[in-house]
Amino acid sequence: MSTGICANRHLIKISGEALAGREPGGVDSVALDDIGHELIAAAREDVEIAVVVGGGNFMRGGSSSLPMKRLTADYVGMLATVMNGLYLEQWLVHHGIDTEIFSAIPLDSQIRRYSADAVVQCLHKRQVVVLAGGTGNPYFTTDTTAALRGLELGAASLIKATNVDGIYDADPATDANASRYRYIDYDTAMVKNLKIMDAAAFALCREHNLPIRVVNLGVKGNLQRAVKREDIGTLVAMG
Ligand code: UDP
Repeated sequence: MSTGICANRHLIKISGEALAGREPGGVDSVALDDIGHELIAAAREDVEIAVVVGGGNFMRGGSSSLPMKRLTADYVGMLATVMNGLYLEQWLVHHGIDTEIFSAIPLDSQIRRYSADAVVQCLHKRQVVVLAGGTGNPYFTTDTTAALRGLELGAASLIKATNVDGIYDADPATDANASRYRYIDYDTAMVKNLKIMDAAAFALCREHNLPIRVVNLGVKGNLQRAVKREDIGTLVAMG
């Protein structure tokens, strides 16, 4: 199957924290509702959508203080992304959305194993695809997963849904003069050391020219605006 770029295909990254809402360490029904409705609105456009879910609401391997070796913590983190993925998939199914979930970690009795070809077939059928299990490998993050899957699937953009309005030249929480970039090229973002994604994820996007749009998931309609390529948040792309 061709892995060329598909102009109306988007990879959306949603963190575990976003799903946790006001329920740290779990999934908040209000947050899940909000995210689900945002995805429905985006999917109404003439677009194909794959969603990579994080797991940081349950476990972040690299920063865990639990007495657990890194490798194990990372597997817990990946399993956390499966839990979040199942919450999201079931919510979408419950709301009548044609949805398919894949996992990079084998859980074959419940979830289809990730394969780019199989995902693309679902996307062609306009199913909303949830991608769980990260890359299936420790020492990675779901931001890197999103970059990797975005490239494998030929997405036109990676939409990073966050809780800020985009990328700023200073911390908007502490600096009243901070201003948001509407657009920034990869090299400038790197030189300025702007924390957009982890280094591996950013390097993948930069090397293969996968545009990243950073948007605030807390603003109703933003995912829909992002898939319509409206000028919101910050676009990080080739100069
Ligand atoms: N993880 C991993 N490999 C991957 C993706 C994730 O080992 O390919 C683990 C890692 O420990 C990570 C955790 O799963 O900290 C949860 O993912 P992430 O921190 O990216 O979630 P988010 O911050 O987006 O909620």
